[in-house]
Amino acid sequence: MISVKEAQRLILAGVKTGPGGRAGLLASVGRVLAGDILSPEDLPRFAQSAMDGYAVRPEELGSDELKISGEIYAGGAPAPALKAGECAYITTGSVVPRNAGAVLPVEDVIAERGRIRVRARAGKGDNIRPAGDDVRKGSLIAGKGALLTPQAVGVFGALGVTRLKVFLPPSVGILTTGSEVEAIDVRRLVKNKIRNSNLCSLLALLGAAGVEPAFSENLEDRPGSLAGFLRKLKKLPEIVILTGGVSVGGHDHVKQELEEAGVRRLFWKVAQKPGKPMYAGVRDGTLFLGLPGNPAAAITCFYLYALPAINKYMGRESLFLPARPALLTDRLKAGGSRTLFLRGYYKDGKVEPLRGQGSHMLAPFLRTNCFIELKPSAPLTLKKGERVRVLLLA
Ligand code: AMP
Ligand code: MG
Repeated sequence: MISVKEAQRLILAGVKTGPGGRAGLLASVGRVLAGDILSPEDLPRFAQSAMDGYAVRPEELGSDELKISGEIYAGGAPAPALKAGECAYITTGSVVPRNAGAVLPVEDVIAERGRIRVRARAGKGDNIRPAGDDVRKGSLIAGKGALLTPQAVGVFGALGVTRLKVFLPPSVGILTTGSEVEAIDVRRLVKNKIRNSNLCSLLALLGAAGVEPAFSENLEDRPGSLAGFLRKLKKLPEIVILTGGVSVGGHDHVKQELEEAGVRRLFWKVAQKPGKPMYAGVRDGTLFLGLPGNPAAAITCFYLYALPAINKYMGRESLFLPARPALLTDRLKAGGSRTLFLRGYYKDGKVEPLRGQGSHMLAPFLRTNCFIELKPSAPLTLKKGERVRVLLLA
């Protein structure tokens, strides 16, 4: 049995960052830029008023009284140049007349009978946002390797950048296995059948990682069913995620079938709980990840092995779940020869180990927002308040 770290290393050693391709702006959120982006425009696009007020010429900054020559509204017709002794009413965001030197805020003047009296003087450039003040045309707005966040999208939108070169997601196929496994929406399940919860977990986990599955299928525990499915595929995806059938049961054919189909084993069995039967192999550039069938093990192994591989392919900087120190809210029995990944609820620097850690148990996931990672050790009881390491889930 190898360690979790070694298993991750073996998987990631074979994963390269994938190709870049052009994608729509909103479809690119959560993806990494595959090239530098230079601004095609100035932002603001034109010199604009920062206030509702009166645009005045620089020569008029010392004047006490001015005539109101007209009104300028955002989106309205371009205003003519200001004449001597005149000002123009202007609203926030409007194009300032080309010879304006400042905008006097409405609060600083008294407007009466077509004239303003200035109560507080302004300096040159006051309340005018110069063109390119925010972003200069031609400047680097985002470099290759930057993650496109939801909060950054508006910048690209404002500049009219609607398509971006980003690292594309890998193609990922999902194969669940088990003759007992049925679709989740079957109305009346026969007693010996179960619903394919792993498939819906994996679809959701992939979706959260920004990946749409290339295919998803459940295969019967029958020799030849996996090999037959693979043979029929026109093209293997970059990653095939399997669940179940990787343990030591009489119907666990996955490893053998993959290897008979030419898959080279990277490892089988990792010193971890849950998730010990985890399998990984490669063939012709396709990574095969055989997650255990037990739901908690499948989900844990997705986060530990599949997600980092996807993240690396997509050029993301952080491959692994972010780790934090946390103080236990309860005592906890730990230790053993395997790394434990216990489901926990993390809040304000404290972590509650959730009840029901069996690898078949799904309900704890309703509150899980982290894994408590406990390295192998002699059996011990961790006390309430003791510091542990947690891996945060989104
Ligand atoms: P296996 O590793 O195939 O022996 O599966 C271990 C346990 O996980 C068994 O109780 C299976 O019924 C269950 N299991 C396997 N695949 C799935 C699945 N796709 N969804 C839910 N449970 C599953
Ligand atoms: Mg099975």
